[in-house]
Amino acid sequence: MKKEKILVLCAHNDDQIIGCGGTFAKYVGEGKIVKTVIFSFGESSHPHFKPEIIKKERVKEAIESDRVLGGKKITFLGLKDAHFKQEIKEKNIKEKLIALIDKEKPDKIFTHSDDDFHPDHNEVYFLVKQLVEEGSVNCDVYLFDVWNVVKLKKRNLPKLVVDISDTYKIKVKALQEHKTQYNLPGIIGLRWKMFMNALIQGWNHGCKYAEVFYKLK
Ligand SMILES: [Zn+2]
Repeated sequence: MKKEKILVLCAHNDDQIIGCGGTFAKYVGEGKIVKTVIFSFGESSHPHFKPEIIKKERVKEAIESDRVLGGKKITFLGLKDAHFKQEIKEKNIKEKLIALIDKEKPDKIFTHSDDDFHPDHNEVYFLVKQLVEEGSVNCDVYLFDVWNVVKLKKRNLPKLVVDISDTYKIKVKALQEHKTQYNLPGIIGLRWKMFMNALIQGWNHGCKYAEVFYKLK
């Protein structure tokens, strides 16, 4: 039997963990193949270091955290942080993504939602939405949040609820692999939010921890 294949499309190399890390690890445990496409190297995260050094570190961290989650492959598209809109055009990212989706033929795609206020996250969402509208994506597409607190726009979209009580620990461990990020003030806030989200969603859906996704298609 063909193994189910999941493709995670995200802007930076911790978004997949915060957004869907528990589900990612759970699917791997169920024998599914999970691959990740990361749009940037996140080299602007530490402005006082040389971008090449940060890039190398962050690629290493991404690969380590993918190993923790049990992922099968990471593809880096190499866009510059905060320049996504322009670079998606200049670097033919749309065509590259279509070719990649064609090749991988995923059964499900997970990506950023439009509720997120980070502009890079929004650009990834807009691109995926465009591909869906143009018919380049045939599988189900689920949206996760990284930065938002309340979901205002998507109340009417169908939901996917995943019980991550057994894999929440793996999600945290994968995030800890991001050593250059883990103790940045912004990330400490995110870690707290990640915990509260998993707890509240678990509460709402009758389990200890849960991740909730909205279905775009
Ligand atoms: Zn991000």
